[in-house]
Amino acid sequence: MANIIDGKAIAKQIRTRLTDEAAQLLAQGVTPTLATVLVGDNSESATYVRMKHRACTKMGLGIVDKRLDNTATQADLEAVVQALNDDPAVHGILVQMPLLAGMDEDRIIDLIAPEKDVDGFGAINMGLLAQRGRTPHFLPATPAGIMLLLAETGVALRGKEAVVVGRSNIVGMPVALLLKEADATVTITHSHTADVASHLRRADIVVVAAGQPELVTGDMLKPGCIVIDVGVNYVDDPAAPKGYRIVGDVEWGSAVSVAGFITPVPGGVGPMTITMLIENVLMAAGR
Ligand code: NDP
Repeated sequence: MANIIDGKAIAKQIRTRLTDEAAQLLAQGVTPTLATVLVGDNSESATYVRMKHRACTKMGLGIVDKRLDNTATQADLEAVVQALNDDPAVHGILVQMPLLAGMDEDRIIDLIAPEKDVDGFGAINMGLLAQRGRTPHFLPATPAGIMLLLAETGVALRGKEAVVVGRSNIVGMPVALLLKEADATVTITHSHTADVASHLRRADIVVVAAGQPELVTGDMLKPGCIVIDVGVNYVDDPAAPKGYRIVGDVEWGSAVSVAGFITPVPGGVGPMTITMLIENVLMAAGR
């Protein structure tokens, strides 16, 4: 039976430390401040922004809350981002995706000043992450959280076989780069990989970020491996109080008896993400 990696408890510990760090900055007259930009009326995006605001407020950080409605243009959004870049009271900028249809997301992400790009998604920060010996201004929050969860297992990553399922810019690709920097040997699989399971079966470390409910099952895993399940999927379940339940990209029931360590969903990677975002804002304010 696998050891459960308790992301909720780990995130709570980190947040205690971050609350102290925020208090120290406040005592020095600096209010670490995150600016969020929400475009349109996507209710899921609004929920994510609200969660980030709540966490910031709870830990003593300041918030600048920018909202643009459905009539906003690319130029309107660029003007808002540029003004935040120029505002010395703003330490971190986060533009909540997705934007409106027709808007150029890459252009917006790259417009955020690299030293305020607390999501770490801009081409400068990603490029610095990809290059050997270079240090990005910020690590993207979810991949950084995953690396901390792996560290909590106490298992050395050097020389291990790591397989990442998914190659998105926000999770799969950056986590693969971080695993490579930790001296693991990394394979990235995606929707065109002929046989994902054949790669998984030799992996000591498995990170699944595919957005496919219960894609990875226990029979695909090497006994004793570490499984980090990033997926958050809502599946219909008439028996559940809300009519749905949340499952990961890994089938918990079969994986938990094969893996050595595993993250639950919810309560694994999720709680780490906002925590790491706040760490980035504090780092920006500290600089
Ligand atoms: P994307 O949809 O951007 O990327 C999914 C990736 O998985 C793609 O690279 C895709 O391949 C690959 N993929 C899809 N199906 C398969 C398959 N059958 N076999 C192998 N690879 C496959 O998703 P994200 O990276 O943004 O998110 C992934 C999951 O993580 C989602 O469930 C999301 O909700 C969750 N998430 C959770 C976070 C948290 O804090 N807990 C934060 C961010 C995401 P291809 O490139 O070929 O299309």
